[in-house]
Amino acid sequence: MFEKILIANRGEIALRVIRACREMGIQSVAVHSTADSDAMHVRMADEAVCIGPPAGAQSYLSIPAIIAACEITGAQAIHPGYGFLSENANFVQVIEDHGLTFIGPTAEHIRVMGDKITAKDTMKDLGVPCVPGSDGGVPTLEDAKRIGEEIGYPVIIKATAGGGGRGMKVAQTAADMESAFMTARAEGKAAFGNDEVYIEKYLTTPRHIEIQVFGDGKGNAVHLAERDCSLQRRHQKVFEEAPGPCITPEERARIGKICADAVAKINYIGAGTIEFLYENGEFYFIEMNTRLQVEHPVTESIFGVDLVREQIRVAEGLPMSFTQDDLEINGHSIEVRINAEKLPNFSPCPGKITAFHAPGGLGVRMDSALYDGYSIPPYYDSLIGKLIVHGRDRAEALSRLNRALGELIVDGIDTTLPLFHALLQEEDIHSGNYNIHWLEKWLETNMG
Ligand code: ADP
Repeated sequence: MFEKILIANRGEIALRVIRACREMGIQSVAVHSTADSDAMHVRMADEAVCIGPPAGAQSYLSIPAIIAACEITGAQAIHPGYGFLSENANFVQVIEDHGLTFIGPTAEHIRVMGDKITAKDTMKDLGVPCVPGSDGGVPTLEDAKRIGEEIGYPVIIKATAGGGGRGMKVAQTAADMESAFMTARAEGKAAFGNDEVYIEKYLTTPRHIEIQVFGDGKGNAVHLAERDCSLQRRHQKVFEEAPGPCITPEERARIGKICADAVAKINYIGAGTIEFLYENGEFYFIEMNTRLQVEHPVTESIFGVDLVREQIRVAEGLPMSFTQDDLEINGHSIEVRINAEKLPNFSPCPGKITAFHAPGGLGVRMDSALYDGYSIPPYYDSLIGKLIVHGRDRAEALSRLNRALGELIVDGIDTTLPLFHALLQEEDIHSGNYNIHWLEKWLETNMG
């Protein structure tokens, strides 16, 4: 059993892991940059080690500094959170070479799923339905044009190493192909050092539906239903819910089983998310994330399970604490992402928090590392909090969200809170009638 776990992350997700450790009687070690000396995760952990200057590349992404922090403190395992090194296969390898445990999947699974072409091939072989598209990488513009004609426009050109909504370009017609192809390649090269791209049919009105899976690394796996993350800006999620408002119990059971069987077959260990686009009753695989997702709390809410605790358990070699039959959906949950950003342009807005008050009461969870007087540093992601609500049904969750948003105070900086107040006035949000393009269109009309 682990006695001490190091958390290679910051912000709300570091707190999330520290909380699970404390409940399990495990000591926690925070690491931090010099810009984060006053951060909440540093205060809340049992120990803290400064690992470098503000820039992520020299601190939260520095593998030698993190390994050294493990050795200094005697931590036996590392939880990566999400982002930073969470999907870095080399990091996992180095951790294992030092006789430490990575709390997450194997380097091999991270590598396979991190390359979107290999991931798609693997999933196809495992019986998971995929978006129609090119068979692997598309080397030249001529190939791209030919494939565009074959699958029919519109198409989307995607960087195989892409992530975070970057390295993706839509070609509505053949005339757009040249610029879309060149831009996707250039973005892939600039952001991920890899200019390989592939092509998919561009679905025009899909929802983003993702299945939470969990494996024990020994051939057993379950699914924890779906999350609907269709409300996106620039391919980034802003509002997530579980279960999906448009998914029937039969569809859930069918796609859930396909996903659980797929990860069981590859002996997947830990938490994973299989992402789909969903249109006209069909699921189309787009990618798998081999880590805990930002939006995992909505799944925790409807199942009453602690996914971080489960990650730690299976990393220790223990079985999962539930079977598929134990997992029953209870009610509805919604998460909104609160970013330190100024509307209408969503420009980053770091600065000093002059007043912070978190909402409370039945069915309300606030995952945030904010406190009164905290200065948000300008170096990192702008996510500063997640407000998660749970209700007996979707309508109750929405009214609870409205109530909780009214209690939440974040003064001193601009945040995306006004966006959620405005969205809750919309009939489509209440009826669940939205797809992945709804929010962009709404923003154009209401904030353009
Ligand atoms: P990333 O790894 O950058 O998050 P994904 O492949 O997961 O990229 O896609 C992110 C988002 O981009 C999806 O949620 C969806 O909104 C949009 N998208 C991706 N593929 C397609 C497609 N074939 N058709 C339409 N939209 C797509």
